[in-house]
Amino acid sequence: MNESGRKKAGKSFPAFFAVLKEELSGLLDVFLPCACCLCGSPLPDSSHPRLCLACMEQIPWIKGPRCLCCALPFTDFGGEDHVCGACLQSPPPFHRVTTLGIYDGLMRQAIHQFKYNGNIHLATAFGHLLADALTTEEPSSRFDLLVPVPLHRNRLRSRTYNQSLLVAQALASRWKIPIHSRLLRRQLPTKPQQGLSLSERLRNLSGAFASSFPLQGEDVLLIDDVMTTGATVSECTSALLAAGAGRVEIAVLARARRTG
Ligand SMILES: [Zn+2]
Ligand SMILES: [Zn+2]
Repeated sequence: MNESGRKKAGKSFPAFFAVLKEELSGLLDVFLPCACCLCGSPLPDSSHPRLCLACMEQIPWIKGPRCLCCALPFTDFGGEDHVCGACLQSPPPFHRVTTLGIYDGLMRQAIHQFKYNGNIHLATAFGHLLADALTTEEPSSRFDLLVPVPLHRNRLRSRTYNQSLLVAQALASRWKIPIHSRLLRRQLPTKPQQGLSLSERLRNLSGAFASSFPLQGEDVLLIDDVMTTGATVSECTSALLAAGAGRVEIAVLARARRTG
């Protein structure tokens, strides 16, 4: 090949790959069209959250009145949001809770897929929905730091990923806020919380979390998947405040109705 031939070939290769890449991405769109990350139904475009209309309609969002502090949904009567009896009696250490929905029906199935069945694509959908919910609830809210509730290393080893960290990463990439995934340490392995009352949960979690280093008045958004009694997020909040956090708000995917 002469010099001009080499030059031609040299110029044509990157162009060839660019065209190939474009063609392949077109083919991927044909063979792998954008799909709902929950049920797999095709979607018309790739905008977020990637959930189809049918799934969005089936998810039990919290639409009625709720506690202004812990987001407990009030199901027995209508009316305005207000602070629930439990928060009045024993004010939690966190400022407020933002949640997407009730831990029931399709929301419960979605979180199960996300946590235990490796459907990590839901993290982006959940992150976008939470960002919208947080902005709607308090448009002026600003956070210095995102902190996911940590898993104990034994549980992280068996599950291989921390679902709260994945949601935090989705929020961080949208808001450009730093995440401190190692700020909170789960220093004790705790028994599963299911079936325990609030006082039993608090006993089970007592001293379970600690902050790895001091804070200097930062406003923190603490992220967890499901909130039932609030024992976990309360313990984490206390550890963050003890480390010097200014204010702690909570963002969870779902709020379970209080059981004890
Ligand atoms: Zn769907
Ligand atoms: Zn409350």
